[in-house]
Amino acid sequence: MKARSESQSTAKPLSRHRRITVKIGSALLVDRETGLKRDWLASLVADIADLRQAGCEVLVVSSGAIALGRTILGMGRRALRLEESQAAAAVGQIALAGAWSDELSLKGLKSGQVLVTLGDTEERRRYLNARATISTLLKLGAVPVINENDTVATSEIRYGDNDRLAARVATMMGADLLILLSDIDGLYTAPPALRPDAEFIPLVERITPDIEAMAGAAASELSRGGMRTKLDAGKIATAAGTAMIITAGTRLNPLSAIDAGERSTYFRASDTPVRGYKTWIAGHLEPAGRIGVDAGAVRALLAGKSLLPAGVTLVSGSFSRGDTVAVVGPDGAEVARGLVAYDAADAVRIAGLKTAEIGKTLGYEARSAMVHRDDLVMSRSMIARTREEEMEG
Ligand code: GLU
Repeated sequence: MKARSESQSTAKPLSRHRRITVKIGSALLVDRETGLKRDWLASLVADIADLRQAGCEVLVVSSGAIALGRTILGMGRRALRLEESQAAAAVGQIALAGAWSDELSLKGLKSGQVLVTLGDTEERRRYLNARATISTLLKLGAVPVINENDTVATSEIRYGDNDRLAARVATMMGADLLILLSDIDGLYTAPPALRPDAEFIPLVERITPDIEAMAGAAASELSRGGMRTKLDAGKIATAAGTAMIITAGTRLNPLSAIDAGERSTYFRASDTPVRGYKTWIAGHLEPAGRIGVDAGAVRALLAGKSLLPAGVTLVSGSFSRGDTVAVVGPDGAEVARGLVAYDAADAVRIAGLKTAEIGKTLGYEARSAMVHRDDLVMSRSMIARTREEEMEG
């Protein structure tokens, strides 16, 4: 209860949000022996119906396809080969979607299944397309029930965990809150399973490297993501103005439990969120490359300028023009993300060159910026660090 009283001033009741994305971990929905936990699902749907009644739109990102499929197929606990988990997902997803549709309709709600692959959020055209479909579902009054299309996703081209997928969906849809329901009740100063003395953290103002160090790598048996992917999700969400709550969804009516004071960690959204096109850039899951820059370039970027080749000290990764790259400062910390104007091979050739020398080296007249300011987003921790330094100095 103490945790709640500390975070109460920051977290308004769920029903006061406009649009909420709820991510449900596999372990909550699926029992390895008995299959789908129907009573639990019914209680969650009752909470969703209450939120809808109060005028709040809800999107669901539901895991559980692979876990449910392997139970239905009697595959036991052994490790699955890629094609086996794809087959398990095919069997599990159809049952999972059926259960959601049944339970929601018992409460008078319609639902629509949306299965996405990585390209649907990472490629601009497909991102806009997925967003249009999901907004239409919401307009028509249906609850979108979203999962990764695990049956066709291969290990190289997948989100892999629904935490980051849910963050990408939440920011794509402009949700004001993302709730991650899992089997852990929030963030601790260290993984509590390994460190019994770990302290619970009810409120995170900003995900700093210190906060990230608390995550460890632990993941439970059923879910792919541990605290690591939850913090990655938090970075994507909060940068775009979406607050995030992590809580254990293990009890019945897990959403109303949050309002009733169940333990949870609240991650505050940025007060200067990136918007629209820049949200898409900032939330990119895997940058295709890294561009190291000198201190002068970092200052120029902070002043809102484009990244010029002159400030580039290092180029790594194999990227094409238009791909997302991470821009890292002299200390190796990420300072920005943006769409690069050159292929990796050309970027290497012009790194460190003055603008006037670029055309001569490449043999064609090219853009002067390596990453144009319109295609660049500063990272949230960078902006905050600079503000703090300005205040101190
Ligand atoms: N998409 C996976 C499934 O439905 C779950 C991924 C995760 O656990 O985060 O089985």
